[in-house]
Amino acid sequence: MNQTLAIIKPDAVSAGLIGKILSHLEDSGFIVEDIKMIHMDPHQAGKFYEIHKEQPFYDSLIKFMTSGPVVPISLKSNNAVSKLRQIIGATDPDEADEGTIRKLYAESKERNAIHASDSNSNATIEIAFFFPG
Ligand code: ATP
Ligand code: MG
Repeated sequence: MNQTLAIIKPDAVSAGLIGKILSHLEDSGFIVEDIKMIHMDPHQAGKFYEIHKEQPFYDSLIKFMTSGPVVPISLKSNNAVSKLRQIIGATDPDEADEGTIRKLYAESKERNAIHASDSNSNATIEIAFFFPG
């Protein structure tokens, strides 16, 4: 078993999709280890997405991620990182496989419902970011 981090993004929270997305995660075999709701400020969101700060979509991404509360979730399963990436689908919902969370619930490439860690090392960093100690 290992860990990964999901974040239900502001578009999905405001659309009332927390329950459906949590069910999807649990039905896929993930154990919820920790969960909370927070409204990030631009400093926090900027730090979380620091890797993208040279990207043209960065400013808009920070505005979106601070537009309302998000739900970070620490998850556990076998092959947690790759399994979560698989069930959330491609960044752009138009390119996501049928049945994936982004295909089902995302609005656009930016407003794409959920974040997932992309490696074991980033999962460790991202879980510590939202759930220190
Ligand atoms: P995440 O890191 O949120 O799990 P991801 O790994 O699929 O998503 P990244 O390339 O890491 O995608 O981009 C981070 C986030 O930035 C995306 O989830 C999306 O919200 C936004 N984003 C990425 N590319 C674009 C783009 N071309 N236009 C608008 N927004 C984008
Ligand atoms: Mg990413």
